[in-house]
Amino acid sequence: MGRELIKRAAEDGIKFVCLQFSDVTGSVKSVDIPVNRLESAIEEGVWFDGSSVEGFARIQESDMRLIPDRDTYAVLPWSEPERRRARLFCDIYNPDGTPFAGDPRGVLKRTRQRLEKRKWRFNVGPEPEFFLVHKTNSESIRAVPHDVGSYFDFSAKDEAHQVRAELMLALASMGLEVEAGHHEVALGQHEIDFHFTDVLRAADNVVTLKYTVKALAAKIGLVASFMPKPFFGMNGSGMHTHQSIFDSDGNNVFYRDEDEFNLSSTAYHFIAGQLEHARALSALVAPTVNSYKRIVPGYEAPVYVCWAQINRSALIRIPRFKDGLKSGARAELRCPDPSCNPYLAFATMLAAGLDGIDRKLECPPPVNDLNIYEMSDAELQKLGIGQLPGSLAEALDELVRDPVLCDCLGDETLEAFMRAKQAEWEAYCTRVMDWELETYLETA
Ligand code: GLU
Ligand code: MG
Repeated sequence: MGRELIKRAAEDGIKFVCLQFSDVTGSVKSVDIPVNRLESAIEEGVWFDGSSVEGFARIQESDMRLIPDRDTYAVLPWSEPERRRARLFCDIYNPDGTPFAGDPRGVLKRTRQRLEKRKWRFNVGPEPEFFLVHKTNSESIRAVPHDVGSYFDFSAKDEAHQVRAELMLALASMGLEVEAGHHEVALGQHEIDFHFTDVLRAADNVVTLKYTVKALAAKIGLVASFMPKPFFGMNGSGMHTHQSIFDSDGNNVFYRDEDEFNLSSTAYHFIAGQLEHARALSALVAPTVNSYKRIVPGYEAPVYVCWAQINRSALIRIPRFKDGLKSGARAELRCPDPSCNPYLAFATMLAAGLDGIDRKLECPPPVNDLNIYEMSDAELQKLGIGQLPGSLAEALDELVRDPVLCDCLGDETLEAFMRAKQAEWEAYCTRVMDWELETYLETA
């Protein structure tokens, strides 16, 4: 296997290999090696100093080892041919050879192992949305949408169209199965939908998509932003995630013939689990200060903790699927946004769903015919419909009080995550915003 990879890298004309991993916030880190070191990297791994990485080693034990996951080899198609680069995602190990508990990819692998005894596979199909923008000038960090399209618009001259076409080719060459790419509702907003796949691969794919679209946009002077709510008064960017569980024969465990929504009791328990943990889960799937500016009424983002078939304001939606296509039975979780660390987001989504299955949690009735955005607090309360947290601080408070999600993350990752996110919240709280100046400067 190692030999094959080395041969492939030679055939691809690779000069450098980027050994990639993610920190606790989801930023991609890379240790780059010349291709002649690939063999030893595969055999022995590569040592690196973890102390400078967010959420990694304490100073006294800063040496950590990256072990490449050979299945993740891909050529970075935008790299110059004379400096051709490939990437490999890596797992992180302690000096004593044990897996590093603070490795987000490791957290997902560990959670996924819980499916092994049931011989299940957790399938995930994310739909990341993003904006292509240009900066108005070098002094201003205020970006503006660069095109004038709207939902599914097609225009032959559209620069965005060029980026999206190149992006789909690049992703395909890297082995990703893209189902569709289209313009989204807002100006300058786009969406790429992946075909569902195993959860670890899906998380790797989200990481790949983000850096690929950023690299390709930069080539023509645009900025690709996965910020959840860049513009006040416009739709934000979500990363709705379709989820199902297959058994070892490839049957969809979520499907049942004799049910109104073609869902099995396992699917209903899974949904009930995610609803029960939704408020704490928000800290992982919508993990930035800005995430909570997206989760407000009126912009197709969910606000309320409920499920439905057609209602886009619900937290979990059951998309319609072709008659008889059993693989299509799935639950779409709508609160994730693309600023999340996909490894931690998908791990905790799975842990929440499995908790529902293990405890056989009862699923509340759907809220199909109702526009939840228009309901009064009293009506919501009567129906037992809760709300997602209104801020990152509220979500973090929920997370530390949720033993199932804390256990999924493990002490090391939880501590690192809380440290990073509390610092983010505190930094935000002490800043003075434009809105405050507009509102108070003269009136106070
Ligand atoms: N952009 C919306 C969001 O923030 C979703 C639009 C859609 O339904 O795809 O979730
Ligand atoms: Mg969308």
